[in-house]
Amino acid sequence: MNNLIQYLFHYPTLPAFAKENFQEHFLMADKIMLVLILLHWIAATFIFSISYDTYLYGFIGGGLISGILLLAYHYFKGTLIMRSLVAIGLMLFSLIYIQQHLGRIEMHFHVFIGIALLSLYKDPIPIFVAAATTILHHIVFNYLQLYEVSLFEMPVMVFNYGCGFDIVLLHGAFVLIETAAIGYIIRTQIEYGVELNRTEKEISVLNQELSYSSMHDALTGLPNRNNLYSQLKLMIANANRYQQKFAVLFLDLDHFKNINDTLGHNVGDTLLKNVASKLKTIVRENDIISRIGGDEFIIILNDIKETIILEQVVLKILDEFRHEWIIKEHFLRLSASIGVAIYPDDSKDINELMKYADIAMYKAKSEGRDQFSFFTSELNSQIHHDVELANDMHRALHDEEFRLYYQPKIEIKTGKIIGAEALIRWDHYEKGIIPPNEFISIAESTGFILKLGTWIIEETARMIARLEHSGYHDVHISCNVSTRQFQNLNLYSEIENAISSSKINPSLFAIEITESVMMEYLEITLEVLKKIKKLGIHICMDDFGTGYSSLSYLRQFPIDSLKIDKSFVDDIVMEGDNDYLLINTIIAMGKTLDLNVIAEGVEEKFQMDYLDKKGCEYYQGYYFSKPVPESKFFELLEKNSTLE
Ligand code: C2E
Ligand code: CA
Ligand code: CA
Repeated sequence: MNNLIQYLFHYPTLPAFAKENFQEHFLMADKIMLVLILLHWIAATFIFSISYDTYLYGFIGGGLISGILLLAYHYFKGTLIMRSLVAIGLMLFSLIYIQQHLGRIEMHFHVFIGIALLSLYKDPIPIFVAAATTILHHIVFNYLQLYEVSLFEMPVMVFNYGCGFDIVLLHGAFVLIETAAIGYIIRTQIEYGVELNRTEKEISVLNQELSYSSMHDALTGLPNRNNLYSQLKLMIANANRYQQKFAVLFLDLDHFKNINDTLGHNVGDTLLKNVASKLKTIVRENDIISRIGGDEFIIILNDIKETIILEQVVLKILDEFRHEWIIKEHFLRLSASIGVAIYPDDSKDINELMKYADIAMYKAKSEGRDQFSFFTSELNSQIHHDVELANDMHRALHDEEFRLYYQPKIEIKTGKIIGAEALIRWDHYEKGIIPPNEFISIAESTGFILKLGTWIIEETARMIARLEHSGYHDVHISCNVSTRQFQNLNLYSEIENAISSSKINPSLFAIEITESVMMEYLEITLEVLKKIKKLGIHICMDDFGTGYSSLSYLRQFPIDSLKIDKSFVDDIVMEGDNDYLLINTIIAMGKTLDLNVIAEGVEEKFQMDYLDKKGCEYYQGYYFSKPVPESKFFELLEKNSTLE
C-alpha cells in the first residue's frame, strides 16, 4: 500500500538509465515531431481554415510556431528543451484550430491527440509541459474572450458557448488526467523494457565471461582441463574420420617448486605465463596447448605421420626451455620433462591417454629430467607392478613380511665383527624375497617410508637389545635412514623412543645417512643431526664420495664415520702395486677429521688388503658375508667370538 502511494505521488520521470541510452531515439523523435508540426501547419493553412475562411490566421500562426521549432531544432535537438518546445508548439496549434473555428468545442479534441502524440518521445516531461500549456492557455484566453480582445483581427474564441472558470477547470482536469495516465504508462513501459533489455545484456555478457573463465586457465589464458577434454573429444572424432594419429605430450617443468619457493610466487607465475607464450610459438596453429595444473602442460600435436617428426618437435620444445629465461630481473635456467602417448596406438581412451603420457613423463623425470620418454607397454606393466607393490605395503607391514637382514662389519686388523648394517627385505607371501631396490623408492614416493622407517628404527633397537641379552655388549647395528624420514620432524623422537623402550645403550645404535641427502637439505639436516647426535648414537655418512661434500662441510656435520661407496672399492681390480688415488684421498680425508673409515662392497681379499694398507680400518662386503637373517647373524657372531 505504502509502495503504491509512493508510486502514485512520485512524479513520473524518465529513469536515469534510460536517459543515457535514449539519445538516438530522442533525435529520431525530434525529426518525426517536426514533420508532424509541419503537417499541422499545412492543416492550419489549408484544411481547418476552409469553413471559416481563416487561411491567414492559420498560415501566420502555424508558420510562427513551425519556424521557431525549426530554429530550436538547430540548437536544442535531442534535449529536454527541444521536447518541451515541441510540446508547447503542438498545444499552440490546438489554440489556432479553436480560434479558426471560433471556439467550436470539438476542436478541443486535438489537445488529447497532441498529448498522445507526445508520448512518442517516451519522456513524460513534455506531456506535462503540454498539459500546463493548455491549462494556462485556457485561463488566459478565457479572460481575453471575456474582454473581447481580438488577434489578427479575429475575435479571441475558446469556448463557443460562453466563458467561465468552471469550464476551464473541467477542461484542465481532463487534460491532467490524460497527462498523468500517459506519464505513468510511459514510465512503466520504459522501466520494464529498458530493465529487461539491460538484464538480458548483462546475462549474456556474464554468460560469455563465465564460459570463458570456466574454460580457460586464469593465469595463462590457455585452455584448461575441461576445455582440453572437450577439444580432445573433437580431435578423436576427426582422427577417426581421417585415419589420423595425434600425440599427447605431458610436459612438466623441472624443479619448478624450487623457483617458486626461493624467488616467490610472483616470479613463478610470470615464468608460467612466459612458458605458455613460448609454447604457443613452437607448435602449429591447430595444435592445442593447455595448462592442467601448477607447472603441468598438455600439448596435443595434431596429425602425426612420422614418429621421427614427432621426436623432432619434442626435441625442439625441450631445446627451447634450455635457453636462459629472464623473469623479473632473474636469470633462470630451466628444463622440462615430457611424456608422450599416441592416439590411437597407445590407447583410444582420453583418460587413459592422459594417464599414459603422465607415466611416460615420470619415466623421463626418473631418468634424470630434461628429456622426453615415449609411453610403452613395458612402462605400463612396470607402473602396474609398482602400484601393486605400493598398495600392498601396508598389508605387508601388518602381516610382518618385512624383516631386517644383517651384514657384518669387520675390523680388518683383527677380523672381528664390530657390528652390522641392517638391510631391509620384503618376504612376500607370493613373490618371495623382494630386494629393497624394488620397493624403497616406491615407499619414498608414497610416503609409506615414514611408517616403514619407524618400524626399521624400532626393530633395530630391539635387535640391539637381543644382542645385549645374548652377551654381545659391543656389537652395534646401523640402520639406513632415507631422505623422506629426515624431512619428518618426528625422527628425533622416534629414535629416542626406540632406544628408551628397548633399554639399550645408545652408543650401539647407528644411523646411516647418504651424503647426497645431507647436502641437499643442508640446514635442516644439520639441525636434525645435531639434535639426534645428543642422544649419544653413532652417525655414519653412507655412500661417501658420490656426493660433493668438501672438507669444510664435513667438519660441520656431527658424524662419527665415513662409508666409502662400493663404486670406489670396485675400482680396486687386481693385486699388485697399483695406486687408487680417489680411495686414498677419501681415506686420508676421514683420518684428518678423526672419523672411522669403513669400506662397503668388498668382495675380494686383495681389495681388503689394499684398504688395510691405506689405513682403512673396517669393511663390509660379500668377501666376509652377504646380508643374512638374524639367526644366521648370531651364528656368525658366535663363530667370530672364538677367534680370540
Ligand atoms: P646401501 O645402504 O648402500 O646398502 C649396501 C648395499 O650393498 C646392500 O644392498 C648390500 O646387500 C649390498 N652389498 C653389500 N656388500 C656387497 C658386496 O660385496 N657386493 C655387492 N654387489 N653388493 C654388496 P641391498 O640390501 O640390496 O640394499 C640396497 C639399498 O637399499 C641400500 O644401499 C639402501 O640404500 C637401501 N636400503 C636397504 N635397506 C634399507 C632400509 O632399511 N631403509 C632404507 N631407507 N633404505 C634401505
Ligand atoms: Ca647403507
Ligand atoms: Ca652404501
